[in-house]
Amino acid sequence: MRIGMGYDVHRLVAGRPLVLGGVTIPFEKGLLGHSDADVLVHAACDALLGAAALGDIGTHFPDGDERFKGIYSIELLGKTIHLLQEKGFALVNLDATIFAQAPKLAPYRTAMQQAMADALRTTADNIGIKATTTEGLGYIGAGEGMAAMCVALISRSPRLSS
Ligand code: MG
Repeated sequence: MRIGMGYDVHRLVAGRPLVLGGVTIPFEKGLLGHSDADVLVHAACDALLGAAALGDIGTHFPDGDERFKGIYSIELLGKTIHLLQEKGFALVNLDATIFAQAPKLAPYRTAMQQAMADALRTTADNIGIKATTTEGLGYIGAGEGMAAMCVALISRSPRLSS
């Protein structure tokens, strides 16, 4: 077993869709970035890559690369698990926390779990997603941005072990 962690932050701005865990969530602002700026998926990619010691999301999907401009980040999650599988690793489980003052994210948890599970070719019960506010404190509390943290546990793929 190997463990990895990921952390990401994106700025919240008007005029962008809010995409978290591959799910578009109705809100007055969205996250700013080269891709859809899905902060939850970016943290998950880094946790997975970290567990396999394969660098980070910027190594594999550089934000200056036109191929990734405006990309739906959930596609990067699928590419990330493929990179791990090529190295003989399989996901055990993933657990994440989103830090956001608003909107309330609990109604979207099941959809986010399923979208991430589909991308990772696993089941939703292997994808933990929580959300918390920062009690109005700091840039997150002021609604200027969102952050996400994620840990991932991986194992050597049983298909490849002798
Ligand atoms: Mg990011």
